[in-house]
Amino acid sequence: DVKDILVKGLNVWYGPVHAVKGVELSIPAGSITAILGANGAGKSSTLKAFAGSVKYSGTIIVGDESIDRLPVHERVRKGLVLCPEGRGIFYHMTVKENLLAGAYTNKKANLDFVFGIFPFLKERLNQIAGTLSGGEQQMLAIARALMAAPKYLMLDEPSLGLAPIVVQRITDVIKYINENLKITVILVEQNTSVALSIAHHGYVLENGKVALQGRAEELRDNPVVREKYLGGV
Ligand code: ATP
Repeated sequence: DVKDILVKGLNVWYGPVHAVKGVELSIPAGSITAILGANGAGKSSTLKAFAGSVKYSGTIIVGDESIDRLPVHERVRKGLVLCPEGRGIFYHMTVKENLLAGAYTNKKANLDFVFGIFPFLKERLNQIAGTLSGGEQQMLAIARALMAAPKYLMLDEPSLGLAPIVVQRITDVIKYINENLKITVILVEQNTSVALSIAHHGYVLENGKVALQGRAEELRDNPVVREKYLGGV
């Protein structure tokens, strides 16, 4: 029972800094929705509002229920799971400990489930997470998020700092998760071309506001997007 998500009048402040300014989003159930924009545009703050890890005003509605009053763990129970920027894995703990930290219930079943998606993790269970390669760490971070059995997976810059071949693996996994596991994906990316290659539609944030929105093909063809975010190609 995956539902649409609607965001109305979202504002995030950090002291005097107005990071998100009245953002309105509609995230259809089953979609990959990209949130794009430059450094500091407010993408991460928007995602953190979904996750409940930052204070905000405005309302986030899942189906017909506002989640604004729910703390982080209750949002996770509802299936809203964040894979944070910088991965947020525990570098001094083993792969297995990281995975188990992501699970609420059905730990065994969820482990088998993520091994199906990331078979390499099964051979690395006792490896210290900090000794994995950057790409492997990103995959571990996604795997850990999947351990919570999300219905809505929020990914903050999963391609950051990774070689193109690894980015390709990550985007393949995101597509797989969306198409086969029917998980709604909210994808924050500075890498516009990567995000628009897999998203169904997207929002471009500028200075805390939605500057552009549309279907992924439309955004890819938009002259402003091409000039500012796709390197003028
Ligand atoms: P990036 O990709 O660089 O993370 P972003 O689009 O995700 O950029 P945010 O991280 O949401 O942007 O930041 C939006 C604005 O809020 C920026 O001006 C940033 O400096 C500010 N900001 C973010 N977090 C904090 C914080 N904890 N305290 C103060 N200001 C913050």
